[in-house]
Amino acid sequence: MRERPAAAGRDGLARGCPGRGSGLMRKQALIGGVALVAAMMATAIGAAPAPASAPDPKMRSAEAVAGKDLRALYEVLCPVDVVHPPAENVADRASWYSPPAKAFDDLYYVGQQGVSAWALKTDEGLILIDALFDYSVGPEIVDGLKALGLDPATIRYVVVTHGHGDHYGGARYLQDTYGARVVASRKDWDVIAQTTRWTDPKPRRDIVVDGAMDLALGRTVISLIETPGHTPGTLSLLFPVHDGAERHVAALWGGTAFNTRTREQYAGMAASAERFAGLARQRGADVWLSNHPVFDDTFAKIAAERKGATSPFVTGQATVQRALKVAAQCSRVALARDYP
Ligand SMILES: [Zn+2]
Repeated sequence: MRERPAAAGRDGLARGCPGRGSGLMRKQALIGGVALVAAMMATAIGAAPAPASAPDPKMRSAEAVAGKDLRALYEVLCPVDVVHPPAENVADRASWYSPPAKAFDDLYYVGQQGVSAWALKTDEGLILIDALFDYSVGPEIVDGLKALGLDPATIRYVVVTHGHGDHYGGARYLQDTYGARVVASRKDWDVIAQTTRWTDPKPRRDIVVDGAMDLALGRTVISLIETPGHTPGTLSLLFPVHDGAERHVAALWGGTAFNTRTREQYAGMAASAERFAGLARQRGADVWLSNHPVFDDTFAKIAAERKGATSPFVTGQATVQRALKVAAQCSRVALARDYP
């Protein structure tokens, strides 16, 4: 399915935030694999496969940087053809529910199959990163925290990475029920105020980030950095996590896919990825996280056997840098392709 420039569909889902279906990228990888197998079979039986369009060398370079572990990031950003997942059936819990899990001693996954929510435990309560949808905040976040032995009433802050309903949809509930403070960029508070694309209740405008903010709770400080691209005021995050005696630094990229395909979106994403890469390098960020599990392989890492003492989520500074390089390079590829 060709998609340029994209108009948001009624559901606006795959176009805005991939992953509301139970695995956009898995489907894409599968479809890519099927195409590859078909081409190989065609060659084997002597028929010439359809010639591939001349690959852009910069795109091939981004593909090489992505490797296998960051393939999903490359696939959603670089190629122009996007495969959309079927709309999710909210009534069919098995199509979206994911059990809660621990990633670090102080970081927990309370997201669903297609969208992430992370709870960071501090000595003065919880910072929640994204609030999912209105329909899933209860079963995933509230019940998930309880199952992990954490109290949802201790959520002090909800950081909304960007103004799309899969990330802010549950925020109003947490605001009303627990008095949690909701944080977003000024630009994305405006996005939330103006959007008609999502039916989830909107949180009341609360804490506003202009450019950047260090949010402190107890002894934990989490840096919120505006990284425009996916939305005008997408927030990406840098924060410490702990694994036994080890301290690591997580870099969480707050918005990935191109949904408007404007010149500003491409150029903004490229510049943001490069700037955030510099900040991540300065802080020694060695844990790559996303707000959609497909982009950081959340479930594989949760399921992975721990090698030695280190959490599978610690993939090293080079991985963080590669991920942001893929985002920057693919943005430049898309800019040159769509605005020659
Ligand atoms: Zn989004």
